[in-house]
Amino acid sequence: MDLNTIEAIIPVRDRAALAAAHTGAGTTSVLAGGTWLFSCEQPHLRTLVDLTTLEWQPWTVSAAGLRLAATCPVAEVAAVPARPGWSAHPLLRQCVRALLASFKVRAVATVGGNVCTALPAGAMTSLAVALDGVVELWGADGSTRHLPVAEFVVGDGRTALRPGEVLRAVDLPERALRGRTAFRRTSLQRLGRSASLVTARRDADGTFTLAVTAATPRPVVLRYPAAPSTARAVQDVRTAVAEGPGWFSDVHGDPDWRRAVTLRSVAGVVAELGELGELEELAEPAEPGGAS
Ligand SMILES: Cc1cc2nc3c(=O)[nH]c(=O)nc-3n(C[C@H](O)[C@H](O)[C@H](O)COP(=O)(O)OP(=O)(O)OC[C@H]3O[C@@H](n4cnc5c(N)ncnc54)[C@H](O)[C@@H]3O)c2cc1C
Repeated sequence: MDLNTIEAIIPVRDRAALAAAHTGAGTTSVLAGGTWLFSCEQPHLRTLVDLTTLEWQPWTVSAAGLRLAATCPVAEVAAVPARPGWSAHPLLRQCVRALLASFKVRAVATVGGNVCTALPAGAMTSLAVALDGVVELWGADGSTRHLPVAEFVVGDGRTALRPGEVLRAVDLPERALRGRTAFRRTSLQRLGRSASLVTARRDADGTFTLAVTAATPRPVVLRYPAAPSTARAVQDVRTAVAEGPGWFSDVHGDPDWRRAVTLRSVAGVVAELGELGELEELAEPAEPGGAS
C-alpha cells in the first residue's frame, strides 16, 4: 500500500550516513525489503532510511561459518551452496520455504527484516535459532554488540533492538552447520502461515538442541548433552512453554491445537535424530584388532 505520510526516503551508503539518519527517532524507520512496512499503515512515519543501498554482500562463508547480511533476500538463503560437512544445509531451504509468500515476496523480503519484524512465524528466526545464530547490532553511537537470536526476539513483534540500532548480520556458526538436523512445520492450511515449527540439531559431539518457534510468541530453545528420550523432550517442552511464553494464539491456530501439534513434532524430531544417531553409532566400524 502507499504510505502517504512519508516525506523522504534516504539511501545510505556507509555506517556514518546510517548513524546520521537517526533511525531511532519516532518518525524515522529503517527500510529493508519493505514487504512488511508497506503491508500496513505507518501513520507515525515521515522518513524511511533505505538499507539496501549499503550494498552489503548478501552472504559470506569463512572458517567461522555462514554470515547472512541483514539485507540478504530470503530467497538467496536457499541458494547458498552446500559446503563439505554442512549436514545442516537442507535446513536453509526448509526455512525459506516456511516463509509462506510468493517467490516475488521472498525475493525482496530480507533476513534482517524478517528477524526484526519478530513475527512468531518468522522463518529466518526459526533458521537462526535452530543453528545458534547470533545477530550483530550496530548502535547509532558507533557501538557494536552481539546477541543470540533466541534472546533477540523477545515476543510477538518485539525485539531487543535499542533505539537507533540496526541489525547488520546474522552469523551461523560452523559447528552448528555441521550438525544433523530435523525439521517439522505445521500450519492450519496446506499453504498457511507456520503455526508450529520445531527443529532439532545433533552436533558431532552428541549435544542436542531442540527449538520451538511459530507456536510460541518467542523462541523456546532446550539443550541437552546427549539426545533425550522422546518422553523427556516432550515433557521438557511442555514445562518450558507453560512456565515461559505460553502457547501463541492468533487466526493461524488456537493455543491448545498448537500445543498438541508441537509436542507431536517434538517427539518426531527427537526420534528421527536420536534413534538415527544411535543406529549410526552402532554401524561404526570396529577398532582394528578390537572385538568384533
Ligand atoms: C504475502 C506475505 C506473506 C508473508 N509471510 C510471512 C511469513 O510466513 N512469516 C513471517 O515471519 N513474515 C511474513 N510476512 C511478513 C514480512 O514480509 C516478512 O517478515 C519479511 O521478511 C520482512 O522483511 P523486509 O525486508 O520486507 O522488512 P521491511 O518491511 O523492510 O521491515 C520490517 C521491519 O523491520 C525493520 N527492519 C528491517 N530491517 C532491519 C534491520 N536490518 N535492522 C533493524 N530494523 C530493521 C523495519 O524498520 C520494519 O520495522 C509476509 C508478508 C507478505 C506480504
